Amino acid sequence: MINLTEEQQILKETARDFADNVLAPVASQIDREEKIPERIISQLNELGFWGITVPEKYGGAGLDTFALILVLEQISRACASTSVTLSVHNSLACNALVKYGSEKQKEKYLPRLATGEIIGAYSITEPDAGSDVASLRTTAKADREGGEGGDFYILNGIKLFVTSGPIASLIVMFARTRPSCTERSERIDISSKGEGISAFLVEPTFSGVKRGPAEEKMGIRGAPMCEIAMEDARIPKENLLGEENKGFNIAMDLLDCGRIGIAIQSVGIAQASLDYAIKYARERIQFGKPINKFQSIQWKLAEMATEIEAARLLVYQSALRRDKKLPHTKESSMAKLFASSIVNRAVKESLQIHGGMGYIKDFPIERLFRDAKVTEIYEGTSEIQHIIISRFLT
Ligand SMILES: Cc1cc2nc3c(=O)[nH]c(=O)nc-3n(C[C@H](O)[C@H](O)[C@H](O)COP(=O)(O)OP(=O)(O)OC[C@H]3O[C@@H](n4cnc5c(N)ncnc54)[C@H](O)[C@@H]3O)c2cc1C
Repeated sequence: MINLTEEQQILKETARDFADNVLAPVASQIDREEKIPERIISQLNELGFWGITVPEKYGGAGLDTFALILVLEQISRACASTSVTLSVHNSLACNALVKYGSEKQKEKYLPRLATGEIIGAYSITEPDAGSDVASLRTTAKADREGGEGGDFYILNGIKLFVTSGPIASLIVMFARTRPSCTERSERIDISSKGEGISAFLVEPTFSGVKRGPAEEKMGIRGAPMCEIAMEDARIPKENLLGEENKGFNIAMDLLDCGRIGIAIQSVGIAQASLDYAIKYARERIQFGKPINKFQSIQWKLAEMATEIEAARLLVYQSALRRDKKLPHTKESSMAKLFASSIVNRAVKESLQIHGGMGYIKDFPIERLFRDAKVTEIYEGTSEIQHIIISRFLT
């Protein structure tokens, strides 16, 4: 186990106290009502969790990626809906501005993002561009009528599966500023296919931006998600993020960080499922003794604990590499691939240990079982993580 500094230990304990005493008691309500209560959103602000990596100058905590994952791990133990909302907000939205925003953009958005007054989202997926995101078709054309180069970009296209889309006030969105590059390539060579894509800071209130209704989901039900349609949407020119046509590198760099967040979400859910299994196995008596006296149950628990520890170390390693500005694309993908795989084994075994009780909603493992699946899908499926990792090997 990595030795934490005193500051990191305090942060972890603060997050754990909040997770255990405030969040866990309302997690099933969040799942049922498909909404994080306002009270929780403002308590997360009091703890500084909406702006963990935002510099203090803009109202954030000014901490690093490692600090972010210490917090997300604890939050994920209690409520995966809250943790993914926080992860997307911090690692994809705030991070986009911190790393690529102009001073004017930072001043405009970061102070409100850092307090949770506004929630951030990230939108790249489209109906015909899921795993193959570089083939996205949403177009962005400079509006020449606005003067030299235009005052606006006009966006047209449909975005799918936007986490926090229904509640976000700022969406980091990707669109083509060079439509000629939309030709599909059979190769999975993202470096060339991504050319001509730009990143935009889109407010859902901009003219022509239309949010669809929240999707009904299997898990992470408290983290609302929707489609967003752009019909001649007018995005002010100053809301271009970074350089025109260089947005794909931004998208991929943000996902390197986002995947660390999803990996630690997996570790947190897995840890919770192990903790519930240990508790249940101690209390449940069959054949005259607690079921934790049966070797087959002990083996399940031992394997879960070992896999969780291994996943945690992979995630910690990728976060530390990011903080040290070392390459970490492979490490982030490995962490996400492994952690999302072991959490799905962990919830399955934990539910099995709960027997029939695990299948009813009175026990949290039923929710954890549903929440875990998506970790193998969003921010790049497990198949795509295999492709990314293998690129570094072959
Ligand atoms: C709950 C949820 C929240 C999400 N939040 C966001 C968000 O906030 N922002 C956003 O932009 N997107 C978001 N997504 C989208 C998510 O990232 C995509 O669903 C994911 O990348 C997969 O794309 P797809 O669903 O189109 O699947 P597809 O790409 O159609 O893949 C279908 C299957 O084929 C496999 N496959 C595809 N290509 C290959 C290949 N080359 N080799 C082997 N197998 C392959 C996939 O792994 C998968 O098993 C979210 C999705 C969900 C479910």
